[in-house]
Amino acid sequence: MSAEIIDGKAFAAKVRAQVAEHVARLKADHDLTPGLAVVLVGEDPASQVYVRSKGKQTVEVGMNSYEHKLDADTSESDLLALIDKLNNDPAVHGILVQLPLPGHLNSDLVINSIDPAKDVDGFHISNVGLLGTGQKSMVPCTPLGCLMMLRDYHGSLSGMNAVVVGRSNIVGKPMFNLLLGDSCTVTVCHSRTKDLPDVVRAADIVVAAVGRPEMVTGDWIKPGATVIDVGINRIEKPEGGTRLVGDVEFASASEVAGAITPVPGGVGPMTIACLLANTLTAACRANGLEEPQGLTA
Ligand code: NDP
Repeated sequence: MSAEIIDGKAFAAKVRAQVAEHVARLKADHDLTPGLAVVLVGEDPASQVYVRSKGKQTVEVGMNSYEHKLDADTSESDLLALIDKLNNDPAVHGILVQLPLPGHLNSDLVINSIDPAKDVDGFHISNVGLLGTGQKSMVPCTPLGCLMMLRDYHGSLSGMNAVVVGRSNIVGKPMFNLLLGDSCTVTVCHSRTKDLPDVVRAADIVVAAVGRPEMVTGDWIKPGATVIDVGINRIEKPEGGTRLVGDVEFASASEVAGAITPVPGGVGPMTIACLLANTLTAACRANGLEEPQGLTA
């Protein structure tokens, strides 16, 4: 293997330590404790794990965590009433509604009912528009984590050719805007892209967010390129049991790339770290205080 490993786990620990230090200063100097409210509707096992992990890490950095667990058959009006209450609660600086929501709830309506200033997932249409026009916004956590790792590894990204595989609202599209904001030349690919391997081979930076296990192989990668693997896929092991893999075939890609994020231990841990960073940023903005440096786009 020739590629340098970009250690997302270690980087996330550094981000959390920075957040914790800033939170301690807010408490000491301004008697302010940032608070994050997480709303979970239903009992999706993966969502329960994420919500537990978010709550635990929120408390570990010294912030208040408010968990709201609602029954799977909660009505839209009850959910909207809770969000309204959280929007108006000065102790709550960040609100996250865990997705996916049960089918009878309109996710767009629910997300757009969150106060954009408290929308720490960055999914509210106002934040999407602000990011798309290069204005100060709340930035979606996963692409923010990818950007932080890229900036840390490369310094300036200006002029680099970046290829994003995947055009989802939560990863691909915001990643495009962030890379463009850092003056990359960005190509966004999707299921209808022609000659995908050739397009990816032109990239100095590859961000794979496809949801297809090990789709991007080493022969798609330009020698020396930086590969950020967002994918989280659970696959069967030949000997039984399962394991997590990314959207990139790590063994072959790491022979060619200059740097690569592993799965697990790459983008995943950065996502929650960025959620904490966003909550801190939201608390600072809500109180007219200086924002932490280096923790947002
Ligand atoms: P979506 O399913 O919403 O989007 C997948 C994208 O990949 C779509 O744009 C789709 O194209 C494209 N795509 C699918 N198949 C192909 C193909 N054969 N060739 C080219 N493009 C293709 O996924 P998400 O963006 O939500 O997630 C992507 C991956 O990232 C998943 O593995 C997910 O688990 C992971 N993830 C990880 C996070 C983390 O914290 N690390 C957070 C969020 C997601 P089209 O639009 O044409 O259908």
